[in-house]
Amino acid sequence: MDFENIYKIIEESLNLSFGYILNPNKRVYLGYIFTSLLLALYVYKTNKVHKTFFKYIYNKQVWFSKSAFIDYSFVVFNGFVKVIFIGPYLILGLYGAYYLTDYLTVTFGEFNSELPKVYWLVFYTLSVVVVQDFFSFLVHYLMHKIPFMWEFHKTHHSATSLNIVTQYRLHPVELIINNSKSLMVFALVSGLFVYLSGGSLDKISVIGVNVLHLVFLVFGSNLRHSQVPLKYNNKVELLFISPFQHQIHHSDNPEHFDKNMGSKLAIWDWMFGTLLRSGNRGKLTYGLGEEQKKYNSFVGNLIQPFLWLVLKIFKK
Ligand SMILES: [Zn+2]
Ligand SMILES: [Zn+2]
Repeated sequence: MDFENIYKIIEESLNLSFGYILNPNKRVYLGYIFTSLLLALYVYKTNKVHKTFFKYIYNKQVWFSKSAFIDYSFVVFNGFVKVIFIGPYLILGLYGAYYLTDYLTVTFGEFNSELPKVYWLVFYTLSVVVVQDFFSFLVHYLMHKIPFMWEFHKTHHSATSLNIVTQYRLHPVELIINNSKSLMVFALVSGLFVYLSGGSLDKISVIGVNVLHLVFLVFGSNLRHSQVPLKYNNKVELLFISPFQHQIHHSDNPEHFDKNMGSKLAIWDWMFGTLLRSGNRGKLTYGLGEEQKKYNSFVGNLIQPFLWLVLKIFKK
């Protein structure tokens, strides 16, 4: 690799990480930060907080904490991981979809559907979102239940304060697992629907998926990692995970461990018996408890899972 290539990778990675605030597909897009601020204002007003709104959302101890600087480091570091290890493979999602359509056509013959195109678009849109959300839950669930995966997921849980950047605090191995999962689900659902609909899906379907995702982005997905305890109605929290329910997920109270692992929908947690609704809870504290010491640095977070693996192998 020559110098020019290295420079190109650095430039691409930094553009990717810092371009998030101008990218409507990202949670930290300026528009969604604005809607999150409006929701935070609502929580501020209803909770009758005794400080100015500015101080309520801008807590210096949070934004300049050691934990926050580890979050920021991961954003930059994972930019490189995305450019080098993820970007070049995104095309595999499309290949996967084509191969699946082809396979189904060869195996079962053409599928003649009488349904108008608009129905397929609605089914497809809903299926991508629901199936993607289920697999997000499943992978997250496994990360909490399988010791080897938990070692990598600890990076996300070692945050001792939450800010909107904490959502990107992921070990690169977890980042690669999550992206592989998304590609696989995209290939499966798209391949199946292109086959069933006789190839009538076009760009509109992708816009449709974005519309549902947009609702999630606008309705406070940023507040999941924040100090703002936005809760939904008790019944609504059986269906959708509120920002406060995700904050409970980060709590260092053993009663809250392995709860609320859903992303958008709460129904998976409900089905797996891992749902906790907001209710009336005191102030939450975050982190890994006794193990926290090993995760108080960027490098610590990065290498701890590998040290764990080495120890595991040599102990046998
Ligand atoms: Zn988790
Ligand atoms: Zn989180």
